[in-house]
Amino acid sequence: MTTRRPFVGGNWKMHGDLAGAAELADDLSAAMGTVTRDVDVAIYPPVPYLQAVGHALRGSEIRLGGQDCSPHLEGAFTGQTSPLMISDLGGRSVLVGHSERRHGLGETDELLAAKVRSALGADLDPVLCVGETRDQKEAGMAHEIVGNQVRAGFADLDPEAARRVVVAYEPVWAIGTGVTASPQDAQEAHASVRDLLGSLYDSELAGQVRIIYGGSVKAANAAELFSGRDVDGGLIGGASLVVDDFLAICRAASPSS
Ligand code: PGA
Repeated sequence: MTTRRPFVGGNWKMHGDLAGAAELADDLSAAMGTVTRDVDVAIYPPVPYLQAVGHALRGSEIRLGGQDCSPHLEGAFTGQTSPLMISDLGGRSVLVGHSERRHGLGETDELLAAKVRSALGADLDPVLCVGETRDQKEAGMAHEIVGNQVRAGFADLDPEAARRVVVAYEPVWAIGTGVTASPQDAQEAHASVRDLLGSLYDSELAGQVRIIYGGSVKAANAAELFSGRDVDGGLIGGASLVVDDFLAICRAASPSS
């Protein structure tokens, strides 16, 4: 179990409708109770529902975030969402480089580094998602791939900016598949990201950055997956859409659980 303040994010992806999003946010904020005393909890609804969800979260400690943002703050960029707009709607965080964008839409390390910088420029905490595909894992390249993604995402970030980034290690083969990394493999991958941050910055900074695990985290496996000392919480897809499941996962991340 981590000694850092845990972070649990709920990535709602492209699910639901307006009424359902507001209801889910309402139910979550009513159910969350004191969990947010010990755990940073954030939810990432679809962009069109950010405002309604933000409204439903008023008075709650649950943070609001975007699933993606533009690498630009403003301008002629049809269809993109400025991180400033997410912030304007009460957002405090944004996912960058989720595998459904990195691999699904071909977003490059360079583009994602620019998104990390634009997010920070809008005072949002970026959640930088990294992870290897099954082929890369089978070719023994997981370590190298993840290292390169982390190096690129932190490029040009000074220590103050770097401390604000949360790294989400999400093996692509575990996302939405029901298959997870073993708790030992997750711990090992997280420790190696932390070592890398230590060499890019220093061990004090590396000890402060939160590294969370994502990929088929459920209420039943969360405690085991979060047991590693370098696993600081999780990024949750499917299970974040069910109040009781998400709540149980947030509780599993809490040091007082
Ligand atoms: P999952 O998704 O929990 O449904 O596997 C995780 C994610 O995409 O962040």
